[in-house]
Amino acid sequence: MEAKGIKGFKDILPSEIKKWQYLERKAEEVFENAGYSEIRIPLMEFTEVFSRSIGEDTDIVEKEMYTFQDKSGRNITLRPEGTAPVVRAYVEHGLYAGPQPARLYYLGPMFRYERPQAGRYRQFYQIGVEALGIDEPLLDAEVVMMLWHLFEKMKLNDLELQINSLGCRNCRSIYIKKLKEYLGDKLPLLCPDCKKRYDVNPLRVLDCKRDQCRESTKDVPGILDSLCKSCKEHFEDVKGYLGELSIPFKINQRIVRGLDYYTKTTFEVIAKGLGAQNAVAAGGRYDGLVEDMGGPPTPGIGFAIGVERVISLIQDTFPEQKPFIYLTSLGNPGHALSIKLTRQLRDAGIKAELGYGNSLKSQMKKADKSGAKFVLIIGDEEIRKGLGILRDMDTKAQDNIDLKQAFEILVKRLG
Ligand code: ATP
Ligand code: MG
Repeated sequence: MEAKGIKGFKDILPSEIKKWQYLERKAEEVFENAGYSEIRIPLMEFTEVFSRSIGEDTDIVEKEMYTFQDKSGRNITLRPEGTAPVVRAYVEHGLYAGPQPARLYYLGPMFRYERPQAGRYRQFYQIGVEALGIDEPLLDAEVVMMLWHLFEKMKLNDLELQINSLGCRNCRSIYIKKLKEYLGDKLPLLCPDCKKRYDVNPLRVLDCKRDQCRESTKDVPGILDSLCKSCKEHFEDVKGYLGELSIPFKINQRIVRGLDYYTKTTFEVIAKGLGAQNAVAAGGRYDGLVEDMGGPPTPGIGFAIGVERVISLIQDTFPEQKPFIYLTSLGNPGHALSIKLTRQLRDAGIKAELGYGNSLKSQMKKADKSGAKFVLIIGDEEIRKGLGILRDMDTKAQDNIDLKQAFEILVKRLG
């Protein structure tokens, strides 16, 4: 057998994992401080959880889902995104009966059968937030603020927040009429996908990444002029709060989002340095989704962060945070002593790595590579004398320490 993973499915190796943990911890900290709780949703759902909510004629449902029949013939899909399952859980467990907004966040892998390339994988990770049960623009601003706050805390540079409003079902249908009129005579210039979108989901023509389509529609009327009074006020309020918070944003009337369930506020965060796949987070309001999923009419808003793309923006190398010790020994009773000491040190909250190998020299080499601050050497000679050698790897200074008191001495140096 050839040891080879599936295309588009990536291993995240220990050499990269510090960045992942850093992002995950910062996100947890920011979201928990805002009153959000984690929800863990399954990796799979009945296919209709996605097909009904996301929309039959979206990229995700049309081409990207990993769907299969399980052994009892049910249609099952590996989750391509988190919002639909979270809303399914919210309805199924009656979370709408609790305090609102229900504040939820999730993190984990998503699956989409897309063409793998830089910044685009078939298994990728998202960290997402959903706030359900409140339709006030204040919540939109708070959700965007959390996202921005997280990126600020991580000191990510060159990000741009772009916002738009898709209005409610009423004003959107007025806009779609206008849009179709405009697109009518451009049709021959558009790509085959957009020709299809014109009939089934014309808003998505605005989202097309092809230069030719962008160029041909560059003077397209924006949706903001078509908003009804209350959607317009909502959007003005959101912009007002963001202004109060000094969060810079740009209006981008092309942010229509691929998914059917969005209403009113939509937003994306773009990383200017990232090339073609440059959206690092995206989200918006979805005031009809809970009802579509069989729950009571309930507004909601959320976003999802593309973890791999954010990771690629993190520059730091994350050196080992706290100093630790590496214990080397040869044979028994040296091994017994070092494993006992290791356990005591770990109990005391000190990181201790155990050396393996049949020469002290090779263990010292590994200790050096490990980045340990100290190495304790317990060879035969040391056992005989009852004195271990403690070497400071930075200064190269060596001390003899009484092995009977090794634990106390090491706690003093490392604790
Ligand atoms: P794109 O326009 O890049 O296809 P999308 O609109 O399909 O994005 P969303 O469904 O909004 O993406 O997902 C939110 C975020 O998840 C994206 O902004 C991106 O950072 C990340 N993302 C989406 N698809 C992938 C993928 N296949 N691989 C890696 N990250 C992804
Ligand atoms: Mg996509």
